Amino acid sequence: MPTKYLLDESQMPTAWYNIQADLPEPLPPVLHPGTHQPVTASDLEPLFTPALIEQEMTTEREVEIPEPVREIYKLWRPAPLYRAYGLEKALGTPAKIYYKYEGVSPAGSHKPNSAIPQAFYNKEAGIKRLTTETGAGQWGTSLSFAGAHFDLDVTVFQVSVSYQQKPYRRAVMETYGAKCVASPSELTEFGRQVLAETPDHTGSLGIAISEAVELAVKDPDTKYALGSVLNHVLLHQSIIGLESMQQMEMAGDWPDVIVGCTGGGSNFAGIAFPFIGQALRGGQKSRVVAVEPSACPSLTRGKYAYDYGDTAHMTPLTKMHTLGAHFTPPGFHAGGLRYHGMAPLVSHIKELGLFDAVAYTQKQCFEAGVIFARAEGIVPAPEANHAVKGAIEEALRCKREGKEEVILFNLCGHGHFDMAAYTAYFAGQLSDHEYSEEELAMALSGLPSL
Ligand SMILES: *Cc1c(COP(=O)(O)O)cnc(C)c1O
Repeated sequence: MPTKYLLDESQMPTAWYNIQADLPEPLPPVLHPGTHQPVTASDLEPLFTPALIEQEMTTEREVEIPEPVREIYKLWRPAPLYRAYGLEKALGTPAKIYYKYEGVSPAGSHKPNSAIPQAFYNKEAGIKRLTTETGAGQWGTSLSFAGAHFDLDVTVFQVSVSYQQKPYRRAVMETYGAKCVASPSELTEFGRQVLAETPDHTGSLGIAISEAVELAVKDPDTKYALGSVLNHVLLHQSIIGLESMQQMEMAGDWPDVIVGCTGGGSNFAGIAFPFIGQALRGGQKSRVVAVEPSACPSLTRGKYAYDYGDTAHMTPLTKMHTLGAHFTPPGFHAGGLRYHGMAPLVSHIKELGLFDAVAYTQKQCFEAGVIFARAEGIVPAPEANHAVKGAIEEALRCKREGKEEVILFNLCGHGHFDMAAYTAYFAGQLSDHEYSEEELAMALSGLPSL
């Protein structure tokens, strides 16, 4: 039996999949931050280019992937699907474990799947510069790579703590030609305001988003790009699940369980939505599990409510699982999972009961990642360790129950830029933070009342 399932370039999907076409109930509307009325396309135009706004709002099932985007995708796509024989053996499980590997992209994660089309549509619209935020550096790297391809200036607001701790990430972004700024910064009004109050502020994704949005709103040649959460980002990531479906067919298996990690929800949606959609259209149903960090538990402990996407309340209000836009998670190592909210589409589908969510601590996840690395050879990104942990738990359940289920998970990135986190884990320096009900209630008390 093969270890990996590879598709030819000619078998790469030519359209993304939009789960909105198959939902039994439509997504709640996005509201304007000032008027609290549903937003219109023109409300979003200061931030995004019309093609992306259309993708944000469409309920068409298929959206064609433009030819120039497909050409760049071919640098690393179709991505391989592996059968995890080594991990199965290490666990002594009767389950069959498969993983889709997104770490083969130039940036080392799934994020270029959306960075490339976002840069493409902006270039087509005559935009000169993109602004964005980055936490761990994955999205900033991906957008910088995309900007280099389409000759766009890219300004990345990197959360200050990660700017200091991850100089190599910054160096990669600069290699691609991007400008990288520690956030909060002196470049924006909001950044200056935060620094005036707290000169040594270590930053947060919410603040970095506010800064990136502010620059975009002020300049007609500049647009903003977001690496997760939004419908169009989840749409672009559907290529992960679409390819996986073809590859599972090649393997002659179909997943009983699908596992993904969730920060803003894009790689999870990428692997899971095509399968969930097919089940909604009458196809075979898989159990789907989202895994999040206990230190930022929006799906398992957050509230499903309208909230802002950023700290300065410049973004529209979306209904989502949120910990409150002022929630500042502790500096744990899966930086890509530190966002206070969850994608509205993922949140809505959770409310419809179409998947389960679980949370694990970072120590549990690093332990799982090390088991995986020793059995399979790939060192996962700290974020991906959450998916690994979820898959291992399912495989151990199969072992207890004597079940030969098929498990598919998304290995969304490698950890080569995050080895300091592994070093800290091996040195016993990682701590786990569990929130009390009071702490969570405090963060949620700032939710807007509508
Ligand atoms: C950014 C990132 C995540 C979290 O983002 P999602 O939108 O939830 O996918 C997870 N894993 C990796 C490797 C990332 O870079």
